[in-house]
Amino acid sequence: MLFTCEQPEGQARDPGELERIIGQAYEAGRARTQTGTVASYIPELAKADGREFGICARNLAGETIAFGDTEKRFSIQSISKVLNLAAALTFLGVRGTFAHVRMEPTGDAFNSILKLDTVSDLPFNPMINAGAIQVMSLLSNIIDFEQLLCFARAFCMDEQIQLNEAVYHSEAETGDRNRAIVYLLKSKGVLQGDPDKTVDLYFRMCSLNVNARSLANMGLLLANGGVNPFTGQRMIQTDHVRILRSLMLTCGLYDESGAYGVWVGIPSKSGVGGGIMGSVTRQWGIGTYGPALNEKGNSAGGIAALRYMSQALGLNIFA
Ligand code: GLN
Repeated sequence: MLFTCEQPEGQARDPGELERIIGQAYEAGRARTQTGTVASYIPELAKADGREFGICARNLAGETIAFGDTEKRFSIQSISKVLNLAAALTFLGVRGTFAHVRMEPTGDAFNSILKLDTVSDLPFNPMINAGAIQVMSLLSNIIDFEQLLCFARAFCMDEQIQLNEAVYHSEAETGDRNRAIVYLLKSKGVLQGDPDKTVDLYFRMCSLNVNARSLANMGLLLANGGVNPFTGQRMIQTDHVRILRSLMLTCGLYDESGAYGVWVGIPSKSGVGGGIMGSVTRQWGIGTYGPALNEKGNSAGGIAALRYMSQALGLNIFA
């Protein structure tokens, strides 16, 4: 016989095996939480318990596998940058968005002002604070918070998402660096909306309360080319999905995106609330929650769990 019919490499053979592998990914992540610390520059985030950890993985075959603290609500933080960019692409188009923000990784911290002041007037990409704030300035002219909240609920397939008032107020009180960014953008004449309204919307979107399951849903919708797999409804255009996932891969973990690409290789976005959202084309949406962060501000446990899962199931897009 010339050809044999084999399972694609890296695919698990049965649901029991998937459960075992994701259980091991959970253990790897949970063990890793000990190496991190919770964010404290937003005082409300310092109240999180760094030992908490959870992973929720959902695939397009309809399986959901969850371990640990997957129902616990926490603030989405920078993962909202994906929502903001998706909304901008949907309502303003590719050109209308990328006329105002670039598509390049920075190699700098998420809240850096360095390159914005010295290298380029336009922010480098929408996955860092400067770029997300710029995107929000565009949105601030055409959409209000309630509409963005509806958009987030639909994207995450989670009607329970609410504004975490305590986190929002904590951010608004201490967010001077983000105010510096918005006013720097204004001083350069590139900001597209009112600075105070823009940064307020940015803080609100960072303060949405999600859980690991909502993040898995977000990843799953992207893995499914922008279509909600449960209703069949298209939420995001296919070409926008490609843009979102490309920027997640190159910029989604800030100045750790390169190493993450090598060791995990799953388009993902992190947030300082402890979440990571990952999306494996035509296969998985993955959400992790582990508020103990590494020195780059990414969830220590989340990275370890995603790395384990990626390697065990052959999910690295370059594998
Ligand atoms: N709200 C946070 C900030 O602007 C988001 C940062 C993050 O999650 N990396 O600093």
